[in-house]
Amino acid sequence: MAWFRRAPAPLAPRPSESRVPEGLWAKCGACKEILYRKDVLKNLSVCPKCAFHFRIGARERLDLLFDGAWQEFDRGLVSSDPLGFRDSKPYAGRLRDGKAKTDSYDAVVSAIGELGGRRTVICAMEYAFIGGSMGVVVGEKVTRAIERCIDERLPLLVVSCSGGARMMEGTLSLMQMAKISAALARLHEARLPFLSILTDPTTGGVTASYAMLGDLNVAEPGALIGFAGPRVIEQTIRQKLPAGFQRSEFLLQHGMLDLVVDRRELKTTLVRCLRLFLD
Ligand SMILES: [Zn+2]
Repeated sequence: MAWFRRAPAPLAPRPSESRVPEGLWAKCGACKEILYRKDVLKNLSVCPKCAFHFRIGARERLDLLFDGAWQEFDRGLVSSDPLGFRDSKPYAGRLRDGKAKTDSYDAVVSAIGELGGRRTVICAMEYAFIGGSMGVVVGEKVTRAIERCIDERLPLLVVSCSGGARMMEGTLSLMQMAKISAALARLHEARLPFLSILTDPTTGGVTASYAMLGDLNVAEPGALIGFAGPRVIEQTIRQKLPAGFQRSEFLLQHGMLDLVVDRRELKTTLVRCLRLFLD
């Protein structure tokens, strides 16, 4: 008799499209309404009918938050593929694909600019780059952004959108959790605010480190936020999870988040929060 048996059928993938699809028309993944794509983009990639939040890229996110032009820093950091890792594809190839798709060398874009007229550092994660996973480069870039905030006495925002630690870098990616958390402790000692913005999805090592360490943890509506994803939990406990489990609203109700804010009001809310902390 076998001790372990594999579940007969894998769980179906999530049916909804999370990014605004290409083309003239877009179908909302939540309400199934057919929408004119330009209307969705004009509405900050939020469905005008049901307020479903499509996923957006790091650069779009920075354009949306900063008042005007922003400057990227630490752009050129690249993973050295320390393990020479390959799964179904070599990791070096995945890095190249990610660069071609997103015009970034890794899954986070660090930038400085003005937010509500106040100089601010924002790190925005890029899900299209290997699932927004956190490896040595993300760890180093976020840490450097924190250190810049301490040196120049600036507030920090990190917009998380990540599947967690990057397994292709093994334990080195897990070490980033401790490294960033230690840097955030120094930011806290310098009495500078860190606002964490959690977007769909924020999971794994990112949730387990900086995404939950904000002075305020603010999430977008309906975002999947958790440590292990719902599919892994369902497969482990062999039970269906309650509706809304691991979504922002559920976490807000259970005291894990401070605010759930619609993307169209996110900027004004963050500006108001920074004013509370700094003025
Ligand atoms: Zn909709």
